[in-house]
Amino acid sequence: MYKGIAGSEGIGIGNVVVIEEHEINIKRETVDEPDAEIARLQSAIEKFVTLTNEMADKMDVTVGKKDADILRGHIQMLQDPMIEEQISSLIVAEKITAEMAVEQVLEQTAEMFSQIPDELLQQRATDFRDIKTRMIKLLLGIEDVDISQVPAGTVLAARDLTPSMTAGINPDNIAGILTEVGGRTSHSAILARAMEIPAVLSIDGICSIVKNGDKVVLDGSSGEVIVNPDDTTIKAFEQKLDAFQKEKALLAKYAGKPSATKDGTKVELVCNIGKPEDAQKAVECDGEGIGLFRTEFLFMDRDSIPTEEEQFEAYKTVAETMKGKPVIIRTLDIGGDKAIPYLGLEKEENPFLGFRAVRFCLQRKDIYETQLRALIRASAFGKIKIMVPLVTCVDELRRVKAMAADIMKKLDAEGVCYNKNIEIGVMMETSAACMIADILAKEAAFFSIGTNDLTGYTMAVDRGNAKVAYLYSTYQPAVLRAIKRIIECGKKEGIMVGMCGEAAADSKLIPLLLAFGLDEFSVSAASVLKTRKTISDCDMEECRALAEKVMQCATEEEVLEILK
Ligand code: PEP
Ligand code: MG
Repeated sequence: MYKGIAGSEGIGIGNVVVIEEHEINIKRETVDEPDAEIARLQSAIEKFVTLTNEMADKMDVTVGKKDADILRGHIQMLQDPMIEEQISSLIVAEKITAEMAVEQVLEQTAEMFSQIPDELLQQRATDFRDIKTRMIKLLLGIEDVDISQVPAGTVLAARDLTPSMTAGINPDNIAGILTEVGGRTSHSAILARAMEIPAVLSIDGICSIVKNGDKVVLDGSSGEVIVNPDDTTIKAFEQKLDAFQKEKALLAKYAGKPSATKDGTKVELVCNIGKPEDAQKAVECDGEGIGLFRTEFLFMDRDSIPTEEEQFEAYKTVAETMKGKPVIIRTLDIGGDKAIPYLGLEKEENPFLGFRAVRFCLQRKDIYETQLRALIRASAFGKIKIMVPLVTCVDELRRVKAMAADIMKKLDAEGVCYNKNIEIGVMMETSAACMIADILAKEAAFFSIGTNDLTGYTMAVDRGNAKVAYLYSTYQPAVLRAIKRIIECGKKEGIMVGMCGEAAADSKLIPLLLAFGLDEFSVSAASVLKTRKTISDCDMEECRALAEKVMQCATEEEVLEILK
């Protein structure tokens, strides 16, 4: 038996598909026989055509004809005589490899399209970059597993499951996820929970331990994984799976009920989402709104920045799906463990302390303005609120508000409708924001506490580092004090204070958060009913008495002793 971190609850039984990571490394070499390179190019193009047709045929059934036709369009784009001619001529003229010529010609073409001020044509840039990457992989003999096409009952094993990889997953086919790195609040864990896929993380060397086709069983609540189990073990896990599903079914009685304590204190119970389509799931799980839409996922799994129109459609979809219920949309939060390769960000020594989130956005105003414009325009279709991540000083909030005000003026001049009272709030996730919570509360329309980062920044611990994971705990007195302070400062200024970090769904912490006065709990759709049950079981008097005791504790152990 192997043991890892319990990343996403549930029982998984299935067969392994190992996801290997490949680095694309194109060397600039001079070739002696350009003709041989042209022959390699031709054979790669043929393979590209065959594979693309196969993929498109599958997509006709799984995704729909419209998307499949986009893929078929890639064949025509690659086989455009001008493109082929340019690549071949470059191989001959510069005596370079086929992959180098593909890289240069297709990148140049993509760049040209990206400069055209027409959104449809700009989309061509994305297509050309996609074609380029696939062609280079074919030329270099790199075979990627297409996660969206793995068979039902697959257990994915990967070093780390990056957010962009996760974006391609079809949850119906994935029985479980195993990784070598990552903690409970890593983005792969968050996404696994959002998709209700059992996951066990940080199992040392799991990708070498298992091979494709191995049978595995895993328990996402205990962190246990058994490779090639015997029949008795499989039976035992089948029984556990059955029990897990029955317990889940019991929660159904909380659907449609108010999110209130036994003695009637009402709170808002909303959802965290990563994709516009997830909003539907939030509705189905009886979420009362969206407390965090992580918009960076719109920027992942693609080769270029989404256009204003694409973003507008995404935000509008969420707003309309939620039918007037609150929708908090966080502006681009990249950096840390969320890389977006095409943005060309430099490698940093301390990415979690570096050029990320609002810091990046305030310097790349071109990107940020597009996002804010799309958000403000979408506010005409529902109750959208804007949330700024990683704030550390009030100037950042002021600058975002000033940008929003300028955009509104322009929209007025253009006669575009939007909500003139759109709220702009702060994601409270740094120690600095906590220390100036009193100042921020005077200028922010709301707070939402991001405990995933707040825990890391308060404890000076990196979210995914297994060696210091023992310090990464929301039960630490330092973190609890930070949370309490933020809520108190927000309440003093009369603004709504929510929580969108994973702690909001932690049944041990919920009584404490209620006692502190938290107004809104934002959890994954799959956790809504369980969280509502926990809240319904609470009594405010008891919660306050508990909080009083907990806040006197000196250590994490003492806190846990009381909370358990
Ligand atoms: C957080 O930091 O708590 C949070 C919700 O944001 P993310 O997990 O995306 O960093
Ligand atoms: Mg965060």
